[in-house]
Amino acid sequence: MITYFHLLLCVLLNFIGVNFAAASDTLQADNASPFFDSHIHYNWDQAEIISAQDIIRKLVKADVGMVIVSSTPSHLALELQQAGGDRIVPFFSPYIHEMGKRDWHLNNEVVIRAERGLRQKQYFGIGEVHFMAGYSPGPDNNVFLGIVELAKQFKVPMLIHVDAADEKYFLNICQRHPQVNFVLAHAGGNLYPEHIESIIKKCTNVVIDFAARDPWRYGGLTNEKGFLLPGWKQIVMRYPDRFITGTDPVWRVTRTQSWDQPDDGWDHFETLLDYHKHWLSGLPKQVQTRITRENVMKLLEK
Ligand SMILES: [Zn+2]
Ligand SMILES: [Zn+2]
Repeated sequence: MITYFHLLLCVLLNFIGVNFAAASDTLQADNASPFFDSHIHYNWDQAEIISAQDIIRKLVKADVGMVIVSSTPSHLALELQQAGGDRIVPFFSPYIHEMGKRDWHLNNEVVIRAERGLRQKQYFGIGEVHFMAGYSPGPDNNVFLGIVELAKQFKVPMLIHVDAADEKYFLNICQRHPQVNFVLAHAGGNLYPEHIESIIKKCTNVVIDFAARDPWRYGGLTNEKGFLLPGWKQIVMRYPDRFITGTDPVWRVTRTQSWDQPDDGWDHFETLLDYHKHWLSGLPKQVQTRITRENVMKLLEK
């Protein structure tokens, strides 16, 4: 079983004054609750215009304590970890080549590589896996079921992105695999607080991720002053241990797959981070700490 506990300890030690080994910038350790970013990417079409070292510099400058990264192709997450050390938590992405999002579900090599990467403790989770209701692949796909089994076997979380009109599609996944800890990305994109509350109640194995709910992409999370809308605030206050958030710095989220131009999402990382920190500031301090830090740690400890 992979435990992330020793890495968490290292990160916490860093925040009480020990320097990050791989980061060249000086950490400003003046913040009692650094932001743990639950959702970043370092994809091939981002790597064309920003280096792993430059991303680490941004994370250090913004005082981001830990990040969960998934990459297309998957090995780029390991490159980011090499540049950034233990603050970078790589997840295994089933998209093992540049256009892997198109054919991963037909390729058993995905399961083989996932098994190897988890066994060698290179990766600490699986995802992001994207589903759209009514389109192939669905959650009955054999490659998906293969990596779900690995998540169970290695006790690592799975990050799932679902584009569906209601919560039923995702419930079918989380109820069917109760031994796997899932993260539902972007609170489901189109899902409202009542859908999310239904998931929270029916699947205790799910953490809800607010990444990319900013007004420049999905929207629908905050009011014109940038604070949580009442429905969201109510369920966050009701279940403060079930939410995490991240910046998801891919800018043109509606673009299916880029090949003609690079993704400049990292240019907007600071704006996205400020947005999340702002809505969080409208919550009680304890709830903020759970969302920005404790819930991410718990997810990785399980
Ligand atoms: Zn997503
Ligand atoms: Zn994402």
